[in-house]
Amino acid sequence: MLKLANIQTYYGNIQALKGVSIAISAGEIITLIGANGAGKTTTLMSISGIAPPRTGEIHFMGEPIHQVSPDQIVQMGISQVPEGRRIFPLLTVAENLDMGAFLRKDKDGIRQDMEHIFDLFPILAQRRTQAGGTLSGGEQQMLAISRALMARPKLLLLDEPSLGLAPLVIRQIFEIIGKINRESNTTIFLVEQNANLALQIAHRGYVMENGRITLADNAAALLSNEDVKKAYLGI
Ligand code: ATP
Repeated sequence: MLKLANIQTYYGNIQALKGVSIAISAGEIITLIGANGAGKTTTLMSISGIAPPRTGEIHFMGEPIHQVSPDQIVQMGISQVPEGRRIFPLLTVAENLDMGAFLRKDKDGIRQDMEHIFDLFPILAQRRTQAGGTLSGGEQQMLAISRALMARPKLLLLDEPSLGLAPLVIRQIFEIIGKINRESNTTIFLVEQNANLALQIAHRGYVMENGRITLADNAAALLSNEDVKKAYLGI
């Protein structure tokens, strides 16, 4: 479904990605783990067209996307949930969800998807007329994921969904991520510092260090890998 081939991404003359190759099949949950500043967010930004690679290629469902604009990439079926959630604080929950569907014209489909999201996150249904900025951190993360789902993505990019949330809320969010993957067959690319949790729901994982992929394996193998345990699992 998605293939990154040797991409190199820069911010001015700072090179953040130094030849990254990743392949994701339809239906998978893939996680990218690594320390602060390793280049995880930049990898997502390169896929979504916000920080396009200077060299290398990205293909999505067979089409090259490394020179495609971010709005076209959303239209092709890739939605990103940015780190720090970034919902619209003054808009209501329902208005935030509408914003996620801004490229769609199928009013009935939009209404159905909103109802589906309210089934998935009943707390958002209760809060539908409340301003996004007044929600708790966990509810805002649910809203940010839901807003991305309103674009009906084939591939969902999640950047640190656990950041700043209480352990119980993180568990809940991760369970829902698994449910989204299973029930609507949405492929998920999950960037996480909480490697332990990420590897528990992922099928496969990649480890990134200093702009390079240093390890790729199935999630169970990474969980029992001695280097991964020491560096990322605190064991
Ligand atoms: P974190 O987990 O802390 O978010 P990360 O693995 O997501 O880290 P990136 O945010 O992708 O890492 O950063 C990779 C490198 O690129 C870092 O050295 C960072 O300082 C640099 N970088 C990121 N964004 C910019 C920017 N807008 N301008 C210049 N350098 C940047």
